[in-house]
Amino acid sequence: MKTLRMLPKIDKCLSHPRFEGCNPALVMKLARTHIEALREALLNKEIEHFDETALMEEIKTAYDALFEPSLKPLINATGVILHTNMGRSLISKTLLERASAVICNYSNLEYNLEEGCRGERYEHVSVHLKTLLGVEDVLVVNNNASAVFLILNTFAKQKEVVVSRGELVEIGGSFRIPEVMKHSGALLCEVGATNKTKKRDYENAINENTVMLMKVHQSNFSIEGFSEAVAYEEIKALASQHALLDYYDLGSGYLPKLPYNLGVREHSLGEILTCNPSLISFSGDKLFGSVQAGIIAGRADLIEKLKQNQLLRMLRVDKITLCLLEESIKAYLKEEWESIPTLWLLFRSVEELSQRALHVKEAVGENSCEIVHSDTYMGGGTLPNRKFPTIALHVKGKATLLEKKFREKLVIGRIEEDKFLLDFRTILPQNESHVIAIIKQIIGH
Ligand SMILES: *Cc1c(COP(=O)(O)O)cnc(C)c1O
Repeated sequence: MKTLRMLPKIDKCLSHPRFEGCNPALVMKLARTHIEALREALLNKEIEHFDETALMEEIKTAYDALFEPSLKPLINATGVILHTNMGRSLISKTLLERASAVICNYSNLEYNLEEGCRGERYEHVSVHLKTLLGVEDVLVVNNNASAVFLILNTFAKQKEVVVSRGELVEIGGSFRIPEVMKHSGALLCEVGATNKTKKRDYENAINENTVMLMKVHQSNFSIEGFSEAVAYEEIKALASQHALLDYYDLGSGYLPKLPYNLGVREHSLGEILTCNPSLISFSGDKLFGSVQAGIIAGRADLIEKLKQNQLLRMLRVDKITLCLLEESIKAYLKEEWESIPTLWLLFRSVEELSQRALHVKEAVGENSCEIVHSDTYMGGGTLPNRKFPTIALHVKGKATLLEKKFREKLVIGRIEEDKFLLDFRTILPQNESHVIAIIKQIIGH
């Protein structure tokens, strides 16, 4: 077969001008697979001949594709601050710089500087967190899902845990309380009805195999209308009365007073901590506004038991997490909100957002956009149905087409009543000039 003999040798690819400056080992690897595929296709008579220039192009495209970033920075113009699909909480550059000295060097992660011997990884954030939360002890794991798992596995293996039927939630499609319980070895004892659970329901469920009364924050949904739940204070009191543990899976803990009324059912971490819960856990990257982590707080003897569980080794956090978390907690202690982007964005006033939207509108030309008052949600499975005010720029034109064009430029907006909106609640001030440039490009100025 003449054509087969004409297939280029791998060496020929290496010396081809298209691959100047490329890593030869990688070119060789890609050339081999492409030429092999071509040989197969020729042998099987799927193709009759081939074009050498096209082959070289194909290999170069595959080479370049490997260096295209897969994770890309986006401009979140949806208005949803804790967007689960866009990475939840942001880390401020200031905190990243503060943490980088440790991340980029060897550190005392597990080294006791005083004694010159092995130290304790979990000590690092503990002083800061204990001070911030006013609790006996804390433990940080990979995320809140692993916190729930570790707690149930440590205290409730083959034992019953009482949970309200209204709180058997699914979060983000992959975390379902009943399933997590099953895998942890705990036995779920559901009480009450979807919309109503009373103190009596908990009380009636307690038997000799019960170890824990657990409350789970409903997070991403809420039951409106005829509903009733038992306050944590009462659950805690009931648990104490029967010498049981009480545990609150809070999901998204928030600390400072928020500028919007979130409704009676949303309690801050501070309020919940005044009940002195035996254990609580929450995510590091929801309203707390830091890195992905699961923060467990509560009684020192219980935290000590958690530390003795072998599972902790599988759920342990890296220095990058600990270091960023420590910096976030320090920012909390200083009330330096601008270093906690999630809170900073939440705290912006409508007036401030209007000013910024007006500036952008003027820069792109008066007629192409209009400023609209709207509402947005927190996102990230937190505070469902709690709207709060925002300001958006309505870019005039066919909404679905604009949505696609902006998305291609890595600006993600939202469509509301057939209008394409860029919501200023989540557009970072440092990205504003970039947003202006992209609007101009798309609307053709
Ligand atoms: C979000 C959430 C979780 C899971 O937390 P991750 O940090 O995402 O693992 C668990 N429980 C509740 C109630 C939540 O809201």
